[in-house]
Amino acid sequence: MKKFICKRCGRCCTDIGGRFSKDESRRIERAFRTLEKYGLYLAIPPEKFSIPLSPEEKTLMEKLSREKGVNFNPVPKLVLVNAKGIVRVIEWDLGSRRCPFYSEEKGCIIYRYRPLACKSFPVIMEADGFKLLDLCPETKNFSPDEIEIAFENECLHARKFSERVESIKRRIIEDQKD
Ligand code: SF4
Ligand code: SF4
Repeated sequence: MKKFICKRCGRCCTDIGGRFSKDESRRIERAFRTLEKYGLYLAIPPEKFSIPLSPEEKTLMEKLSREKGVNFNPVPKLVLVNAKGIVRVIEWDLGSRRCPFYSEEKGCIIYRYRPLACKSFPVIMEADGFKLLDLCPETKNFSPDEIEIAFENECLHARKFSERVESIKRRIIEDQKD
C-alpha cells in the first residue's frame, strides 16, 4: 500500500490560495449568490481565499499571535446579515498567502493548535468522496481507496470540516425561519 510522506517543503503554509481559475472563481461566486436570500454574503472574492477559520479558531490564533509576537491579520470571509441589519462574521480567512505562523527553521509554530483546514490538508471531502489537493507535490497517483488508508487522520479532519460547513448551512436556514 502506498504511503504518504510529507517532505516538509512548507508549500502548504507559504503558497496558500490564489489557486482558482477565473471560471472557478465565477462558479464559486454564483454558488454563494444563491445563499444571499438567507442573508449570507461573501466578503472576499474566491481568488483571495486562503485558509478558512471558524470564529473560535480566529480568536485562538489571535491569542497565540500575541503570545508569539506574530503579525496576524485575518479578514472576514463569510458574513451573515439578519433582518435587523446586524452583521455577524461566520467564517474568517487567514488573510495572506504565507501563513505568519510558519517559521523556516521550526515549521508551524502553533502545530498543536493549527486550524481544522490545516489538520485535514491535503484532503478535502466532496459529495462523491475524499480528494487530494494538488498544492502538495506528494499527492500524485493515489486511488480513492488508498486515500482513506494513507491519509486516515487527514480524512477524519476533512470529515469534521465538512460537518462544520453543513452545520453552518443548517444554522443559517434555521435562523431565517425564526
Ligand atoms: S497554521 Fe501552521 S499548519 Fe496552518 S498554514 Fe499556518 S503554519 Fe501551516
Ligand atoms: S505541501 Fe505536502 S509535502 Fe509540503 S509540507 Fe505540505 S503536506 Fe508536506
